[in-house]
Amino acid sequence: MNVVIVGGGIIGLCSAYFLDAKGYDVTVIDRSDLTNNCSYGNMGMITPSHFVPLAAPGIVAQGIRWMFNKKSPFYVKPAINPDLIRWGLHFIRKSTSKHVNQSALPLKELNVMSRSIYEEWATLPEFDFHYMRKGIIMYFNSEKTGEEEIWLAEKAKELGLETMVLNNQQLRTLEPQMKPNAMGGVHYLCDGHLDPNLLMQQLINILTERGVRLVRNTEATGFHAHNGKVTSVVAGQKIYDADCVLLAGGSWLPAIAGKLGVKIPLVPGKGYSFNVKNPKVNLNYPTILCEARVALTPMPGRLRIGGTMEIGRMDDKILPYRIAGIIESLPSYFDNLRVDTPAGEEIWFGYRPCSADGLPYIGPSRKYPNLYIAGGHSMMGLSMGPATGKLISEMIDGEKTTIPVNAYNPERFK
Ligand SMILES: Cc1cc2nc3c(=O)[nH]c(=O)nc-3n(C[C@H](O)[C@H](O)[C@H](O)COP(=O)(O)OP(=O)(O)OC[C@H]3O[C@@H](n4cnc5c(N)ncnc54)[C@H](O)[C@@H]3O)c2cc1C
Repeated sequence: MNVVIVGGGIIGLCSAYFLDAKGYDVTVIDRSDLTNNCSYGNMGMITPSHFVPLAAPGIVAQGIRWMFNKKSPFYVKPAINPDLIRWGLHFIRKSTSKHVNQSALPLKELNVMSRSIYEEWATLPEFDFHYMRKGIIMYFNSEKTGEEEIWLAEKAKELGLETMVLNNQQLRTLEPQMKPNAMGGVHYLCDGHLDPNLLMQQLINILTERGVRLVRNTEATGFHAHNGKVTSVVAGQKIYDADCVLLAGGSWLPAIAGKLGVKIPLVPGKGYSFNVKNPKVNLNYPTILCEARVALTPMPGRLRIGGTMEIGRMDDKILPYRIAGIIESLPSYFDNLRVDTPAGEEIWFGYRPCSADGLPYIGPSRKYPNLYIAGGHSMMGLSMGPATGKLISEMIDGEKTTIPVNAYNPERFK
């Protein structure tokens, strides 16, 4: 049986990996050359700690306040775009405590399942993506954020995640070179990190060696369907026959699924990152600066710094004041972290595929039983990629899934 996957980001490649392992004949079609998509320049964090969805109480009011500050980490591009408005309405409706409570377990389970797969992969000779399980430290600088973070750490413990609340002295012991000046932090020992650029390249090598067809620089532009089933994918000048089709097109998922009349509420959340190469001092631990919403990850030979979430923006422009916002936030958390503004060509950007409720879309479509959707992982696609791929392979194979999948139903907004 052959499966055609549209999209070769982390979600498409992980799905190809597990489908191939089950003996399916797999083709991945991507309109890029597979060397740069959202799955490359991200922060490499593996995040069971991120059990609070993007749609949460307070985010809408905070988002509106941030819209008036050019350097803020969050921005919604105002536009008369029906898809964005529909997404926004779903998002506002889902930003409740009830939704946060209901989402915690499905988000945690997917992250934990992925973490185990990464830990297994890290022992295999064909992978070497510098996986480490040292945890992630969330730094806070105000009483209010501190209270929220400590409350969240308690919730994390209730979910079985290992956390430790740290004062400034303890932060200084963990990061002696950087001299943290933040008020305090929470260490999520349950988290890991890796080098996403290495991981993606290694996945491509493994899939190629195993005979998975990777069709590059070819855009999927249409589909054929017959008797209630998708029968082929039109891409470039060719038609790819398919027993089963998986749409894993990242932020372009709504456009692709729309060609089959399947509506997926999803918008791009543009983010930036850049690398400080061979830094004189580096962090020991991946770090999130809570108020600034900036992330920092030590990677071999570099410190990667990233942030911002520009909802609805899909253009190649790099907004210098957002980069300035990231850089200017650093000294208020660390005495010894001062970074020069990177040149334009050193700044990477990617589009996080943001679902309307902060949970990913994973599963079959109602309209076509042989059409599957996998996307909308927002800021956790790298972390949740392997589990998503495994679940998709189990669903296509008709097996019982490793974890319950109801919460990820791609057509839950119908
Ligand atoms: C600054 C930043 C930091 C981040 N940090 C983290 C982190 O620390 N941990 C984490 O877990 N996540 C992180 N993320 C999020 C993560 O990178 C994404 O969730 C993830 O990469 C999404 O993967 P994807 O496969 O769905 O999409 P993508 O990687 O975007 O892949 C989609 C692919 O589909 C292809 N495509 C689209 N349309 C078509 C078509 N019609 N035909 C053919 N191909 C098509 C595209 O070319 C692309 O290659 C971060 C994101 C950003 C921006």
